[in-house]
Amino acid sequence: MADASALRDEVRAWLADNWSDQLPLGDWWQRLADAGWGFPTWPRQWFGRGLSSDDAKVVRAELRAAGAYGPPSGVSTFLAAPTILACGTDDQKARFMPGIVTGREVWCQLFSEPGAGSDLAGLATRAERDGDEWVVSGQKVWNTGAQFADWAILVARTDPDQPKHKGLSYFLIDMRQPGVEVRPLKEMSGDETFNEVFLSEARIPVENLLGSLGEGWRVTMTTLMNERDSENAAMGGGGSFVGRPRLDATIAEVVAEEKSRVADDGMALAMGGGVFRHLMEQAQTFGATKDPVLRQALMRVHILRELHRYNGLRTKATLAAGGQPGPESSTGKLMGSEIARQMRDLAWQIQGPYGQLMGDDAPLRGVMQKYGLFTPSASIAGGTDEINKNIIGERVLGLPKEPDVSRELPWRELKVGTQRT
Ligand SMILES: Cc1cc2nc3c(=O)[nH]c(=O)nc-3n(C[C@H](O)[C@H](O)[C@H](O)COP(=O)(O)OP(=O)(O)OC[C@H]3O[C@@H](n4cnc5c(N)ncnc54)[C@H](O)[C@@H]3O)c2cc1C
Repeated sequence: MADASALRDEVRAWLADNWSDQLPLGDWWQRLADAGWGFPTWPRQWFGRGLSSDDAKVVRAELRAAGAYGPPSGVSTFLAAPTILACGTDDQKARFMPGIVTGREVWCQLFSEPGAGSDLAGLATRAERDGDEWVVSGQKVWNTGAQFADWAILVARTDPDQPKHKGLSYFLIDMRQPGVEVRPLKEMSGDETFNEVFLSEARIPVENLLGSLGEGWRVTMTTLMNERDSENAAMGGGGSFVGRPRLDATIAEVVAEEKSRVADDGMALAMGGGVFRHLMEQAQTFGATKDPVLRQALMRVHILRELHRYNGLRTKATLAAGGQPGPESSTGKLMGSEIARQMRDLAWQIQGPYGQLMGDDAPLRGVMQKYGLFTPSASIAGGTDEINKNIIGERVLGLPKEPDVSRELPWRELKVGTQRT
């Protein structure tokens, strides 16, 4: 760890010279990227400072104390960037990292398919080589933010004669091209954050293959380990998790818009990490702080959140030591979904009969109701609870693997999944 007080002074001096909420968001993100303070654990060469996770905490604390707006968030910085940093060539990093760290290019994740979610390795989207390009056809689903995305991380099958895990490759695909059709899906909350994405002979230049041909599963695991590290998701980035940042607007304007959105957007609340604060406010308002059962429940959730945080810190220490998040990140993912469920149930218990209302009639303009409708997704997105338990059983505890006859057969001969030709 560097000298913490010297680091603190350095960040403070830089903030004094650079931070203002009157800056256009794009200018601020450019400054953060140039200085490397937005993602301090990333390598210096790629918009970081090469700091340990303990030092990064010092940096983030200083940014927060100054009221400074965080770096870009969302699939771009949460999934695409760590995967490109871990598996990309220098040319790929040079092409894609600047757009990501400045929020100029927005990314989405094209992994799941109608017949391949938990069994992602069974996916059917095909990529076939045509000269200097790959030609991709298939259907993806549940793609968060695809309607706003310029680029996507994509897994596709390049060799159907190999067993399912072996014939996959990982690509960086331009979403703004004729062969890509994005259709939004309506969720039970009434929002449209998910999409179906239809790929019809979409084109990818050969230089946008990430990792080697046929090595797609290994690269995919790098992405998924980051996704399951839910502490990573709530790292405190700026901007909404889903959407296009308004780079020309001043930060003061952006913050005002976000405040009004978080007031009635359950997903924004969940990703922004303000749920427990709302829960405590509600507990005061409804007198739950004097109810012995509800007090117990509040303390239980707090303890779980603390344990979750320590688990996340351990994962970050692994990352800082140059490792990748391992199967242990599944523990964090499971804790995250359990905490979300407990907070949802507690919010509605605290509100009593008012918990049945929606929208402006409900307490806090119904944000806890929206959060409740978003909560089931925590145990599905990025690997379901059951799959994460399997990972812990097999890869952490060393229990025998689930029997899977499809593991060694050529993918072409499998009877499950969709779009077999
Ligand atoms: C909020 C949210 C955001 C998402 N964003 C994206 C995105 O941006 N991009 C993307 O590609 N995908 C995204 N997804 C999709 C997500 O990755 C899949 O929903 C997830 O992997 C589960 O796949 P599935 O929905 O096909 O369910 P299935 O795989 O069909 O599972 C159905 C049920 O069967 C259980 N099950 C399946 N296999 C086993 C097994 N071997 N052992 C025990 N139980 C099993 C599961 O646990 C589950 O309960 C998102 C999902 C959510 C909820």
